[in-house]
Amino acid sequence: MKYVSTRGRVEPISFKEAVMMGLANDDGLLIPQSFPKFSQVDLERFSTYDYPSLAYEIIRRFALDMHPVKLRQIIEKSYSNFDTKSVIPVVKKGDIHIAEIFHGPTFAFKDIALQFLGNMFEHILEEKRLDMNILGATSGDTGSAAIYGVRGKKNIRIFVLYPKGRVSEVQEMQMTSVTDDNVFNLAVDGTFDDCQNIVKEIFGDLFFKERYDLGAVNSINWARIVAQIVYYFWCAFRAAEPGQKVTFVVPTGNFGNIFAGYCAKLMGLPVDKFILATNENNILTRFINDGDYTVKDVKFTHSPSMDIQLASNFERYLYLFYDRDPVKIKSLMAELKENKGLKFSPADVKRVQEDFGTYSTSNEETEQVIANFYKEHNYILDPHTACGVAAGLKVKNGTPVICLATASPAKFPDVVKKATGVEPERPEGITALEGLPRKVNEIGNSVHEVREFIKSKVK
Ligand SMILES: *Cc1c(COP(=O)(O)O)cnc(C)c1O
Repeated sequence: MKYVSTRGRVEPISFKEAVMMGLANDDGLLIPQSFPKFSQVDLERFSTYDYPSLAYEIIRRFALDMHPVKLRQIIEKSYSNFDTKSVIPVVKKGDIHIAEIFHGPTFAFKDIALQFLGNMFEHILEEKRLDMNILGATSGDTGSAAIYGVRGKKNIRIFVLYPKGRVSEVQEMQMTSVTDDNVFNLAVDGTFDDCQNIVKEIFGDLFFKERYDLGAVNSINWARIVAQIVYYFWCAFRAAEPGQKVTFVVPTGNFGNIFAGYCAKLMGLPVDKFILATNENNILTRFINDGDYTVKDVKFTHSPSMDIQLASNFERYLYLFYDRDPVKIKSLMAELKENKGLKFSPADVKRVQEDFGTYSTSNEETEQVIANFYKEHNYILDPHTACGVAAGLKVKNGTPVICLATASPAKFPDVVKKATGVEPERPEGITALEGLPRKVNEIGNSVHEVREFIKSKVK
C-alpha cells in the first residue's frame, strides 16, 4: 500500500515518506491508495487485544515500510504514559457510552496521535541522521500535545507560538512547565490568527524552511489519522455485541477525528452512522443537512478547539466521496477559495447522509447539557464532549451510541463551574505542574522577531 495526493500530483510514496511530507507537495492531502479490509472473524479476534496490540494490528497494515519490531516498540512507548492502564476507558452513563479518549499527558485526545507522531519523527530522523525543527501555532490543545509528543527528543526542536493571555490557565501551564532544552514556547503579543499568519509566512519562505529544516505537526499528517482509527475499533468492541452496528458521536473541528472513524468503517467496522457534532461554528452541520459549505466568521464559543470554519481534513473525505478523482478535487478547492464556499446537489447530500448525521449545539445548550448530565449521572463533561452528548441524546436508531469524550473537564474549569457550580477535580497530571518552574519567551507580533529567534536557537 502506498500513499497518493488528493490533488494527484505526487507519485505513490511509502508510509514513512508520507509522515515526513505532512502536507502533500502539490498542496493536497496524502491518502492510502486502498484501505485494508477486516472480516468479522478478524474483528472478533481483535476484540480481545489490549490497546497497544490492537494499535499494532491496525497500524502495521498502513505502514508496510516499518520494521515490525520497531513499530511495535513505538506504539508501546506512545501509550505507556497514559494515566490509565486500559488507555481508553469506555463508561456507560444512562443510554450513552462515553469513550474517554483524553487520558494522555495533556488530557485532550490530541495526545493519542501526537505521542505516536513524535516517536515516528524521532525514529525516521534517526535513520536518516537528520534533525527537524517543528514550528506551529496553537490556540491551546494541539500545542501542548505536540510539546509532550517531542519533549526531550535529541533530533527535534519545537517552537510553539500561542497568543499571550488568550489560552486557558491549564493549557498555558502545560506548555510552559516543560523546560526541556528542545522546547521553546513563544507567547506572542497578538491573537491566534496572528500566530498562524506568522507561521504561514515563515513556511512560505522556502529557502528559510529548507535551511532550518522546518517541519509541522498539524492535523493533516497521515500518521495522526492512522493512530486515531484504532480507537473506533476499540470502543465498538466495548459497547456492542460482535457484528452489531454502532453509532459514533464526534465533536468536530478540523474533521480529523471523524474522518478516522469513517476510515474504520471502510475497513469493515460495522457503523450505522457518524453523528458530527459542532458548536455555533456549524459549517459542517450545514454541509450535512443542506449541502451548504459556506465559510462564515469564526465565533468564540465554550468549546474553543472546535472554533474552526475551514476543516482541513474535509478534502480527504471529498476525495473518497468523488471516487478518488483529483481533477474534481482541484476544481472544488479552487472554487472554495474563489467563492468562500461550496454548494452540493440534493443527490450528493442524500449520499452523505447515508453515513453522517449532525447536530449543532449553542453555548447555552452546552451549559445545560453539562448541568443535566452532572445531576443525572454525577459525571462531568467538558464543553466539547457536551456538544457531542447533546447530539447523542437525540439519536434514536436502536444502536449503541458511543460519544467520544475529547477532553478532560479539568482543562475547561470555568464553563464547568458556571454550569454545575462545582470545580472539576484536577487529575494528578495537572496538579503536579502547579509550582513547577516555567519556561516561556515573550515575543512581538512580528515575523522578523520569530525568525530571528529560531535562527538564534538552531546552529
Ligand atoms: C481538536 C479537538 C477537537 C476537534 O477535533 P478535529 O479532529 O479537529 O475534528 C474536539 N475537541 C477537542 C477537545 C479538541 O482538542
